[in-house]
Amino acid sequence: MARIVLTADATQMSEYWGIPLLPFFSCAPAEKVPRIVFDFLSPQVKHNNGVAQMAPYGLRKLEASILRTYKPKEVVVAHPDHVSKFVNEDTRIIGISTMDPLGLGPVSMMFTDGGQLTAYTKRKFLELVYEVNRARKRFPKAKLVLGGSGAWQMETKDEQTRALGVNHTVIGECDHVIQDIYNDIEFNGAPEFIHVPRGPKLEQIPDIVGASTHGLVEVMRGCGRNCQFCEPNLRTAKYYPADKIEREIAVNRKIGNPNVWIHSEDIFLYKLEDKNGFMPNHEAVVDLFKTVMTQGGITYA
Ligand code: SF4
Repeated sequence: MARIVLTADATQMSEYWGIPLLPFFSCAPAEKVPRIVFDFLSPQVKHNNGVAQMAPYGLRKLEASILRTYKPKEVVVAHPDHVSKFVNEDTRIIGISTMDPLGLGPVSMMFTDGGQLTAYTKRKFLELVYEVNRARKRFPKAKLVLGGSGAWQMETKDEQTRALGVNHTVIGECDHVIQDIYNDIEFNGAPEFIHVPRGPKLEQIPDIVGASTHGLVEVMRGCGRNCQFCEPNLRTAKYYPADKIEREIAVNRKIGNPNVWIHSEDIFLYKLEDKNGFMPNHEAVVDLFKTVMTQGGITYA
């Protein structure tokens, strides 16, 4: 039982056999791809009595951020099949980290004939919300709060969002303020759609405290290449220093993960100095990979 229950849908709770492009299969239409095939291709992460052993990196950042003010015993990262085990009269927030909750992402739209079919990302999200709402019927003090990279989709379909019983949707980078937002949701009230206008400074981004799927470790945020349609481009570029990267790899090593997925908008922009010509900072990029590959127990990245 927990005051704050965090989770994500089944399409995000798999390492897809470690095959790098297979997660895109989560955008396949449920009407065309039998569930048995999808389930085989997306074996779920392990759990200990319902506590997820691994979780998507964004969910881990959320967990780390709110642990700055909440006590560890008040927060759980639950496996999506076991969320209801952790919901009781003390639960105040059930937070779902979303990626493509309504199947509006570009790959889903392509695979589903422009949304006429149902991407598994949407199907699994709706199934999770259904289970969460069943638990909330018994414990109505628990509010449903969405966030993550797919949260924008909920605002574009606000009526559907309300019909799903979503209380709040947080949109934007929120490492530095999410604990205050959760506090407001619990005690002071908050808007239905909460926009975070400015992202965190580097020093406001916490280290993950639990293992991420794929051994994913972020090394930078923001881009700068100026593609006009792009949201990450609006972020000021921030580069994680080596010691921060090493600490997060160590967290993943605790469960024996031998690989690292290095995450960035564009790895060749790591510690970029040439902001006009975009010539990579060769030395910094090579040093980054050397740092990763010399961590104990890491065999590939
Ligand atoms: S993140 Fe990708 S799409 Fe966005 S500005 Fe950079 S290169 Fe362009």
